[in-house]
Amino acid sequence: MRTIYVDKHIPKILAVKALKPVWGDVVYAPLSPVRFAEIPDPPLPGPRWLRVRNRVCGICASDLSLLHVEADPQIGPAALPGNQRFYLGHEVVSIVTEVEPGVTRFKPGDRVIMQARFQGAHCRNQEIEPLCRHCAEGNYILCENASRGIGPRGVGGGWGDGYTAHESELYPVPDDLSDDQAAMVEPLAVGVRTALRRLPAPGEKALVVGCGIVGLNLIQALRALAPDCHITALARYGHQQLMARRLGADEIIGNEDPYRAVARITGARLYEGMLGNRMLLGGFDVVFDCVGTSATLQDSLRWARAGGTVVLAGVKLKPLSLDLTPVWYQEVNLIGVNSHGREHWNGREWETFDLVIELLRQGKLTIDGLITHRFPLEKWREAIATAENKRTGAIKVVFDYGH
Ligand SMILES: [Zn+2]
Ligand SMILES: [Zn+2]
Repeated sequence: MRTIYVDKHIPKILAVKALKPVWGDVVYAPLSPVRFAEIPDPPLPGPRWLRVRNRVCGICASDLSLLHVEADPQIGPAALPGNQRFYLGHEVVSIVTEVEPGVTRFKPGDRVIMQARFQGAHCRNQEIEPLCRHCAEGNYILCENASRGIGPRGVGGGWGDGYTAHESELYPVPDDLSDDQAAMVEPLAVGVRTALRRLPAPGEKALVVGCGIVGLNLIQALRALAPDCHITALARYGHQQLMARRLGADEIIGNEDPYRAVARITGARLYEGMLGNRMLLGGFDVVFDCVGTSATLQDSLRWARAGGTVVLAGVKLKPLSLDLTPVWYQEVNLIGVNSHGREHWNGREWETFDLVIELLRQGKLTIDGLITHRFPLEKWREAIATAENKRTGAIKVVFDYGH
């Protein structure tokens, strides 16, 4: 089968990092840890394992940062032994083709999406008993046993013909979902969990910084879960501004000076110190930073009101450098969010994926207009280039395997 992966091979990683400034395409060169490989179908390594064939898979920013070998070896996750190889592609809908006798949740012919795999090992796919406290609650992403290295790992990912998985890593697709909807459940779940980390109360003002797919899905999740909040979207590109408005943003900050825009929308007072140092008193109740760079997080902390909250939703795999004074000076809360798991909403507990599907059925979440480009696997480099260049109008680019 064909598959695309990145190896945690330190000399190759260092070589790519050193050469990237002068050689833009070095990640595709033979010395790179990135591989487009043709490998024999791997065996199923245990009684609860199965094999799937892919139908549609999205390209996610986290895949792209792995592909570009962006991770800094000094960040926390890099210290964990975890995966030695990362198969790219997790927003994937597939068909089960083969199951071992211990599999109880699936049979050949079932459609499935990847739920608890891309993020690594956890108690259930390593078959660790008793479950750690987070896995027991359904938050596989926070597993305390993630790096114990027990049990086999799946081979292959969403960017390729198929993969092997432990049954606990997969989620069954209901018949009333299209393949495209199914492939978008995972990125929609990221939006839903992000909104629920600090759901705005009625009348509160929220700011979404960055309108790539995470920001756009967050806007529709906020509109669905907190219909009476006021949403402002900071979006750089015209097609993102249009889509943000369509998905429920009340205000758009585009080319306007964002500090003046925050003051205008929230009634905050803007003060200008030396050397372009600007600070607001007042601001948004909640700011969702869906970019996550030093610059956007620094601004987000200043755009939140005293006692407000900044949710770090953008993922950057490197240490940041910024002014954190608003955290103590204005008692701004800084919290983070990681993908999906278990949520509390409307008086009950939900798996994030269950809640997304419920909201899709109610028409409160949509995928209309979000998948802008489709490519066959052979055109993977063109697909990646399209996803990376927002001037193409790209929102979500997918591989379509034509089944
Ligand atoms: Zn993703
Ligand atoms: Zn666990």
